[in-house]
Amino acid sequence: MCLKKSGLLLQNHAEFAATYIKPFGTIFLNLVEFIVCPIVLFSILSGVVSMRDIKKVGKIGGITVVYYFLTTAVAITIGLFVGNLFKGSFPVLTTASLTYEVPAAINGMDVLVGIFPSNFLMPITEANMLQVIVMAILIGFSVILLGEKGEPAIFGINVCNDVSMKCMEMILKLSPIGVFCLLTPVVAANGPQVIGSLAMVLLTAYICYVLHAVVVYSLTVSTLGRISPLKFFKGMLPAIMFAFSSASSVGTLPLNLECTQKLGASKEVSSFVLPLGATINMDGTAIYQGVCAIFIASCYGINLTFSQMMTIVLTATLASVGTAGVPGAGMVMLAMVLTSVGLPVDGIALVAGVDRIFDMGRTTLNITGDASCAVIVSSLVDRKRAKSKA
Ligand code: ASP
Repeated sequence: MCLKKSGLLLQNHAEFAATYIKPFGTIFLNLVEFIVCPIVLFSILSGVVSMRDIKKVGKIGGITVVYYFLTTAVAITIGLFVGNLFKGSFPVLTTASLTYEVPAAINGMDVLVGIFPSNFLMPITEANMLQVIVMAILIGFSVILLGEKGEPAIFGINVCNDVSMKCMEMILKLSPIGVFCLLTPVVAANGPQVIGSLAMVLLTAYICYVLHAVVVYSLTVSTLGRISPLKFFKGMLPAIMFAFSSASSVGTLPLNLECTQKLGASKEVSSFVLPLGATINMDGTAIYQGVCAIFIASCYGINLTFSQMMTIVLTATLASVGTAGVPGAGMVMLAMVLTSVGLPVDGIALVAGVDRIFDMGRTTLNITGDASCAVIVSSLVDRKRAKSKA
């Protein structure tokens, strides 16, 4: 409301907003991106070394990755299904004058090879999150294998983890100002009608976000995690609110860790599962990509076939792995999804103006999905331990 009002006031001052307000939003984004690599590296490292057993990391990692893939595939299916239901009420925007810089085409084998770093520093300097994860797991395993000799390294890793978390906490105090400064120039430049004209598309995405949370996570946390959905969502409220305002999964990590541990997840499980999820598990992003694909196709007068939709399910699930948990990353990966079914990538320009509003909701769902996994895996591990003791 407040953002919309300030946008209205600034409508005639779009240039002012772009010159003097947007840079503060950019500073906020830069700072978040600056701290993302250390956060992911040290939090996964600290999660791995705290388990002190490579087999255990492998087992927990396996369950986690399967859960993440399955829930993401369900999310994109919901996005496509509801998107098709609401397609009739989507606006048909003109596509004649669209331009969008198309990112280089992504090839599946290149993605696989690209996961493995060939240089110690490059994953960090290039902010390649999948390489950072591989690096963290490799170093973590080496520390575990060192046994007693590795103890000082464990201490150092934990200190570095605490320092990067503190740093992120400080940066994220700026998030209300950052988000305000990013949204205001958009509304000032396009007028509030940019939100109005896309209201139905936004609403569809938000309906899917809520549906996925209420149906899928309630079901998984109650059956697999043995925790009441009400208790889960109530316990997650601080992290949910933070994710909504910051639009960053990685930025929400410290709070997410706190909330899941209060909900009973063990520290060793959550400190491995959550940072991994903040990088590779994006259910909200997958939904957004499904809804946007349907919307963009309808603007171009294209009807997606069933096999095209199946391709979207697959590519959006994979795209979610490659999406970093920072504001706006999902929009870049939308290009990959559109390309996979031959939709014009320029169509992204149709939704780019309101990406932040999509992003706030999709990030909220992304981190809730990560948390549901932490609670479930932790409960499975606890039950297995109790069983083997009995
Ligand atoms: N902002 C999202 C996140 O941090 C990623 C995206 O843009 O979809 O989870």
